Amino acid sequence: MTATYITTTLPYVNARPHIGFALELVQADVLARYHRGRGDAVRFQAGTDDNSLKNVLAAGAAGAGVREFVDRNAETFGALGGALSLSVDDFIRTSRDPRHRPGVEAFWRACSADLYRQRYTGLYCLGCEQFYTPAELRHGHCPEHETEPERVSEENWFFRLSRYAAPLREAITAGRLLIEPAGRRNEVLALIDGGLADFSVSRPATRAGGWGIPVPGDPGQVVYVWFDALCNYVTALGYGQDGPVHGAAYRRWWAGPGNRVHLLGKGVLRFHAVCWPAMLLASGQQLPTAIFVHDYLTAGGRKISKSGASAPGPGAPEPAALAAEYGTDAVRWWLLREVPRVGDADFTVERLVARADDELANGLGNLVNRVVAMIGRYRAGRIPVAAAVPPGGEDLDAAIRHAGDRVGAALAEFDFRQATAAVWGIADEANRFVNRVRPWDLAKADPAGQLDAVLYLLARACAAAARELAPFLPDAAARVTAQCTPGEDGRLPDPRPVFRRLSAPAGLRVEQPQQDQQDQGADDRSDDPDRVEAVNAQRVVLNQVLQEAAHERSHDAEHDGAEQADGVAAGEQQPSDGAGDEADDN
Ligand SMILES: [Zn+2]
Repeated sequence: MTATYITTTLPYVNARPHIGFALELVQADVLARYHRGRGDAVRFQAGTDDNSLKNVLAAGAAGAGVREFVDRNAETFGALGGALSLSVDDFIRTSRDPRHRPGVEAFWRACSADLYRQRYTGLYCLGCEQFYTPAELRHGHCPEHETEPERVSEENWFFRLSRYAAPLREAITAGRLLIEPAGRRNEVLALIDGGLADFSVSRPATRAGGWGIPVPGDPGQVVYVWFDALCNYVTALGYGQDGPVHGAAYRRWWAGPGNRVHLLGKGVLRFHAVCWPAMLLASGQQLPTAIFVHDYLTAGGRKISKSGASAPGPGAPEPAALAAEYGTDAVRWWLLREVPRVGDADFTVERLVARADDELANGLGNLVNRVVAMIGRYRAGRIPVAAAVPPGGEDLDAAIRHAGDRVGAALAEFDFRQATAAVWGIADEANRFVNRVRPWDLAKADPAGQLDAVLYLLARACAAAARELAPFLPDAAARVTAQCTPGEDGRLPDPRPVFRRLSAPAGLRVEQPQQDQQDQGADDRSDDPDRVEAVNAQRVVLNQVLQEAAHERSHDAEHDGAEQADGVAAGEQQPSDGAGDEADDN
């Protein structure tokens, strides 16, 4: 069983989390769930970087004590696990976790041959917590923060990074340390070839306000926050415990033969792909096996500042608030479907809503409802079994059979958009197939006896979509699976909405119900089975609308919805509210 250790970076907790950080968490969660689903042993770790000078300053600005301020913000990061349905196995807080400090101290000592004290004067960006050379600045300003760095002169401990250029280069070019995408790998190689200068790894304790981990044997200095934070990837595993062999988790997840995968944003590439591997080499440890670098999100065309959602205005929406309003599935789907592997992506609520309604509610959700309703109507809820793929179903059959391989190949390259495209391809192809073969016509006249094969293929499509969707939208996948799984009586449950429509309740009178009715022909006879199915479809949509109307707390919407509900949806079970509860238990 392959052991796969997946980590996210530790954000500063000088502010509450913004949507940009949710991207990295969701990407890491998808990888963790995917590998678990394949039977790998997986450990998924996230956390917070508490020991930053920025936290100290932000607490001061907020008039709060550092401990209280850091705890309060760290809690909002921890709460993202629930809001985004993250399968985090371990969450480390660098200021509180009892594993961390002894691990950092052990790491420091293990590097001691490459540490030396020196007086240094340099240009320091507080936002980045790093020194910049004049050549690295853009018009005299920090390339990340566009602020002017301050000139700092102090005595620090330095790490002999310059020694590690050759072994780092070799590890990267030999593929032992994979850096994706390739552009980022080339960037790292260029950094190495440009010459690696030793970097300072401590700060005077006085400047840090006493916050941070004292340098072993030199209490006048605290360990530089980046050195401290990077160590989390091994301190959480018990590095520095149990003497020279370290803790059992360390031996399994870091010292063993498995995968060690870091996810990070482009702004911290140098720390993770140069400094961190050099620190590992200096202390006699293995390197990570893969580093995946994502680009940034903008919000409404505006850069989301690294300091997070502390910026006022609608520019940096909070992921937990978005999930509460639009649902976890919609937030995850947008992050995975729209953010490219290379290049920044712009977040807006309109895009999130459009993507979720188009592909989840109208695409996959509608497919599942149609298929379950048709099997209920034409085969009394029992999924027929058929060996042959019906004529016209070849593309759908291929989409089903190849989805797993496509997802695997895309995720091996950290291409979440390609991976979700393979899943979405099943639903898209299946809806096209329905429109093409018109099962409602076959139900009336089926001389070639194809309806069983058609319904069986569609049931396979729904089951495959649920299976492949599981790493990406675990909650939705559970709801789709519940819809497509026969009960003890061998029958499928009654159709219930698996996604709620997010756009305004005015949607009641637009595409979806009309689309269904057009699909199914305009037969007026009340005893026609198609007609009944159309009502079923309508019922589902109405329930969704009702729920939204209640959610909106708009008097008009409630009134409107209630009136129409009496005639059509009376006696129906609760819609997606109930389904959501089910999923929460999973
Ligand atoms: Zn900066």
